[in-house]
Amino acid sequence: MSPGGSAADWWGLLVSGGDVWACVLELNTWRRARQDRPLASYQELCRELAASGAGCFGELDTVGARSVLRRYSDAWFAAAQRRRSGDQRARFPRRRRALMPLRWYHGTFTLTGRRLRIPVARGRPPLWVRLNRDLPYPPEQVRSVTLVYDAGRLWVDVTAEIPVTAYPAGHEPDPGRTAGVDLGIIHPYAVAGPGGQGLLVSGRAIRAEHRMHLADTKARARAVARRAPKPGQRGSRRWRHYRRRQRLVEARHRRRVRQAQHEAAKTVIAWAVDRRIGTLAVGDPRSVLSLDAGRRHNQRTRDWRIGHLITVLKDKAEAAGIGLTLVDERGTSSTCPACHSRIPKPPGRVLTCPACQFTGHRDLTAAASIAARHGGGITPVIPAGVTHRRAGAHLPGVSSSRRDPRRRAHYRGARGSPGRHRPIPASPTRLARESLATWRGA
Ligand SMILES: [Zn+2]
Repeated sequence: MSPGGSAADWWGLLVSGGDVWACVLELNTWRRARQDRPLASYQELCRELAASGAGCFGELDTVGARSVLRRYSDAWFAAAQRRRSGDQRARFPRRRRALMPLRWYHGTFTLTGRRLRIPVARGRPPLWVRLNRDLPYPPEQVRSVTLVYDAGRLWVDVTAEIPVTAYPAGHEPDPGRTAGVDLGIIHPYAVAGPGGQGLLVSGRAIRAEHRMHLADTKARARAVARRAPKPGQRGSRRWRHYRRRQRLVEARHRRRVRQAQHEAAKTVIAWAVDRRIGTLAVGDPRSVLSLDAGRRHNQRTRDWRIGHLITVLKDKAEAAGIGLTLVDERGTSSTCPACHSRIPKPPGRVLTCPACQFTGHRDLTAAASIAARHGGGITPVIPAGVTHRRAGAHLPGVSSSRRDPRRRAHYRGARGSPGRHRPIPASPTRLARESLATWRGA
């Protein structure tokens, strides 16, 4: 949600947040130089902030400043935890930032309609901000607001506490009814439920969005490569314009994919609620994702955003009163559910067992196997019971009415585009050209 209101005030607050962050970094640099223990716990940092006195960070109030300390503390302990568990690449926070996100908790801000009141340092007039759309939650459910600057826009990030859905008697999810969920790229979610029922959410639009974005980014980079500043040089105005534009495009791409994944997860939950499914067994493929699979496939798995797919499904399941468990999915898409023999990965979507002639949809069969692993005795999905849905119906290019402006025209000779086949205009044109040449030469 992007706020209206005076940009200079917002900007000043976020810059002050960046100053707090820089102070903490500097403090710990000194302490390290003196071979002292770094200050990382939230309480210690708050004490240090109180000692430095009020009003030393511009308009920023104590609550906002403390949210920066909380962020530092969380990042520090997360890095320490990862280093203890043997990950030597984990780094403690040490980069300065010009702008820092700020958070205010329930009771410190006021929300009335589209107006948000942010507390500022004592003696300054409070900051009122107009939001450009309505909150999706009642104001009393909002637990915190966070001010973020991302790619040319100021955002208010809202956290709300949502009660678990209440169902009329006889319609609540039944924990005994299990559905298996297979996560994929072509189908972000393939779900197999009891009674041969299945759901396929198509992710082709999301994949197209990733591909278009990659092609677009590459083309941009090629076009401006010769303008790139040398090390130590300040970029030209055109270069900085390019960098800004690229940041905006990246942010828009991320928003589009995130939105599409949220919609896909919502579809799954709505489908599960309709069928009174109380447990979702989700196959977790993350154990094999760290393996290097070549640059193209690595790009695919990075674009997949599997962690986000699992998180959004988990959150929505929780809100709907559905349990979710992660199951190791290894081998589920390559094992026959009927005779348990190993099946080579088919190139398409149809899985056929060479041993027992079993045939079924590859992702739905995997989903059924995942459910079986969790103890849900699910027979493979029958084609008649499959519901098809699409993720990312809002993405550009999903229909002919919304052409993706990044897509190149299908004109003859366009690179990478075969275009429509047209026979080459034969001799008349060539003759005409020749005669023209002769006429000119004469
Ligand atoms: Zn078989």
